[in-house]
Amino acid sequence: MAPRTQIDTLVILGAAGDLTSRLLLPGLATLLASSRGRTVRLIGSAREPLTEKQWKQVVRKSFAKTGVRGEHVEQTLANTTYIQADVTTTEGLQTLLDASKGTPAFFFALPPAVTSLACAQLANMQVPKSLTLVLEKPFGTDSRSAAELNRILVKIVPEEQIHRVDHFLGRADVLNIFGVRFSNLVIEQLLSNQNVEKIDIIYDEDLALEGRAGYYDHAGALRDMIQSHLLQIMALLMMEPPASLKEFDVRNGKAMVLDATRIWKNDPVGSSKRARYTAGKIGRRTIPAYTREPGVDPSRETETLAQMTVEVANWRWAGVPVTLRSGKAMGKPRKEAVITFKPVPHLPAEFTTPATPDVLRIGFKPAGMSLDIDVNGPGDKFTLEKASLVADFGSGQLEAYGEVLAGVLEGDAMLAVRGDTAVRCWLIVEPVLRAWAAGKVSLQTYPAGSEGPRSWLS
Ligand code: NDP
Repeated sequence: MAPRTQIDTLVILGAAGDLTSRLLLPGLATLLASSRGRTVRLIGSAREPLTEKQWKQVVRKSFAKTGVRGEHVEQTLANTTYIQADVTTTEGLQTLLDASKGTPAFFFALPPAVTSLACAQLANMQVPKSLTLVLEKPFGTDSRSAAELNRILVKIVPEEQIHRVDHFLGRADVLNIFGVRFSNLVIEQLLSNQNVEKIDIIYDEDLALEGRAGYYDHAGALRDMIQSHLLQIMALLMMEPPASLKEFDVRNGKAMVLDATRIWKNDPVGSSKRARYTAGKIGRRTIPAYTREPGVDPSRETETLAQMTVEVANWRWAGVPVTLRSGKAMGKPRKEAVITFKPVPHLPAEFTTPATPDVLRIGFKPAGMSLDIDVNGPGDKFTLEKASLVADFGSGQLEAYGEVLAGVLEGDAMLAVRGDTAVRCWLIVEPVLRAWAAGKVSLQTYPAGSEGPRSWLS
């Protein structure tokens, strides 16, 4: 494999957008201020005619949100420049390539359709050999378009220089999975179909649509959360222990899990559920029905809560149902992977209460872990009670986008999604999407602020 190339010029395409100011620039600030920080040449670009002063103001405001300071933060801010360009034109892209001295990375913080057009143009242009391309989610809208985008990208640069971002992989709470799994014999030994009854990966948010109809109403919970973030978490949770945490080993390990993933019992109808929220209250907030949100077309039948059960059909995991679920406007945010173990094979009759399954929870937001086990209660010595061993992991040094950008700037694609994996994640969910499009799974409802449809509660 080619040696890693350090990026010295970061070009943000789509610099006037929401992602840039809300997540990318704050993430960059935390990286620059960290022990991994160094000064980078930062170029912002969009069609909007911003002056250098206005752009610096955008960067300053976004950096300030994090409260971090330091030499690299100040220097990057002082030297940043802005270029007005339409990246769907050869002229616009050429201007950016000409301005990209040294070893550049193009971060496409653009609407996905604009990114595709820009990449198609770049494929016919002369670009620096060391150029790195960074692409946001969604990567394509189905397996065909994702494969087509891959074909275009590898005409521009080799796969190692393509970073498909899934920012969940940069989150410290998700990266904790590496530590929990691969540095503890006691946990790792238990993780297989010999001991595990089922796995649930849940990401329920109390946020509702928050004005994002333009994107979300075309995507829905399955595409927005399960097809990308939750399958990535599942792959980390279920991959074989890698020899190293280098790009090749980690991405290969994940790919093997995803390649083995099938819809449970090959039954997309019986193994999936979808629902949409109606009006309700979350705390003191009154939430209008999803269908009444501005920009929503109710006839699209977009789901705001999705659930899908799969099987990782390999030696270690065959037979274990893995349920992935994510919802919006839920009463209680619940973000965790829950591993439920099998019952003990025999319980001595002297125990006066039945044993209940042990449960290992890996929490995302807040980051932590707990192991629920049966212990002797304080009263009768043969009465069992549940006890929880709890660990709080605290937060990481970097914001998720800080970690993502660290990978980009250090030329390490370990946290980026590999091209074949991006396609594979679409192939996994497509049988469910087809069943839903054919109306084979009814769209249920749940009041905002509830825990989802009653029939889903187990
Ligand atoms: P926005 O619509 O807020 O911003 C898009 C940016 O692209 C604007 O700066 C716009 O500026 C620029 N742009 C549009 N067309 C062109 C063009 N032809 N040439 C040059 N610049 C152009 O989008 P977001 O920031 O919300 O999202 C960007 C990407 O990030 C999307 O792929 C999205 O899916 C992804 N993403 C976003 C998240 C978020 O929370 N916002 C979270 C995760 C991923 P101008 O019109 O001035 O050219």
